[in-house]
Amino acid sequence: MSNAIVVCTWGEDKDGLPASAEEVLTLAGGLAKNTGSDLVWLTLGAQASGVADAASRHGVAALHQIDDAKLADVSADLAVEALAQYCAAQSPRIVLFNQMAETRTIAPRLAARLDSAVVMGVTGIAADGDALDITASAYGGDTRVVYRVAGAGTAVAAVWSTAITAESPDAGSSPASETIAVDLGSASERIKIVEAAKAEGPKLEDAEIIVSGGRGLGAPENYKLIRDLAEALGGMAGASRPLVDEGWVDSNHQVGLTGKITKPNLYVAVGISGASQHMAGCGAANAIAAINKDSEAAIFQHARFGVVGDALELLPELIRAAKS
Ligand SMILES: Cc1cc2nc3c(=O)[nH]c(=O)nc-3n(C[C@H](O)[C@H](O)[C@H](O)COP(=O)(O)OP(=O)(O)OC[C@H]3O[C@@H](n4cnc5c(N)ncnc54)[C@H](O)[C@@H]3O)c2cc1C
Repeated sequence: MSNAIVVCTWGEDKDGLPASAEEVLTLAGGLAKNTGSDLVWLTLGAQASGVADAASRHGVAALHQIDDAKLADVSADLAVEALAQYCAAQSPRIVLFNQMAETRTIAPRLAARLDSAVVMGVTGIAADGDALDITASAYGGDTRVVYRVAGAGTAVAAVWSTAITAESPDAGSSPASETIAVDLGSASERIKIVEAAKAEGPKLEDAEIIVSGGRGLGAPENYKLIRDLAEALGGMAGASRPLVDEGWVDSNHQVGLTGKITKPNLYVAVGISGASQHMAGCGAANAIAAINKDSEAAIFQHARFGVVGDALELLPELIRAAKS
């Protein structure tokens, strides 16, 4: 068993880094420092342009890359196979993923292959001798649980990145780069993507201002008011899950545990009760403003600004004010 803390990040964001890489590196870097372990950053497929620079800033000791042509469009079956082979050869202490749609399927399957523990929704890790105390968000963010992961074997964790503030320690390391060979000859992808859903234009996850509508809007045609206010404020429109389930808007708009995890400067929640599963996707906003006709609605516990009133009366006024 090596003592390495391995970060394996997925997806690419606008700064040329895999999504949430800085948050995962911040958490993993702290653990590596406290345990005197090497911090290793593993990438699958082509490496994003900003990786080398970020690795140096976060004190990464080694950059590992599995660049098999079969991993070009990283798919779950092949990724699990590649990672299982990697872990068998390197025996790291723990592999930390950024939690997102892909890694939600990959992390548990990897742990099963390694016959080890997996913890999802991770917000912190402390070492206690050979054991790791892994704190994770549970019940849709309602509570926190600490799992003690002990014993030999590589633990697997998926990091809830919005709960972590990225720090750029500027550690100034010069990570060694190594290409790791795996044999994917006999591995095949059992899932065939017939047509990938395409989201055009800017992403909700990157928006600085989001105006989201919930069931309190009453009828699908009223969602136009959300779009209009979002546009007038120079932001994007989001929604709570019932609106997506009812087909008022497509799933790219859904904010929450099973939707987009956002971190805007301003989040305007209109006719949204503030269920924990919704807050999981917007609770990290710098400021939340809420409009709700129920003064007892849970959303007001999270909101910095709140208006108790009828959204259908207030929205046209707000749109007019924002436009002028
Ligand atoms: C496993 C799981 C995952 C989930 N994932 C998500 C997720 O990703 N995202 C998500 O959003 N939900 C998710 N949910 C659902 C979540 O639990 C809530 O049911 C949902 O967020 C409620 O949506 P809402 O606030 O729009 O509706 P409601 O809870 O019905 O709230 C409507 C609100 O509108 C107010 N209102 C009514 N009329 C008006 C008016 N005229 N003007 C102003 N206010 C008004 C009401 O007072 C109320 O507070 C998930 C649930 C589960 C179990």
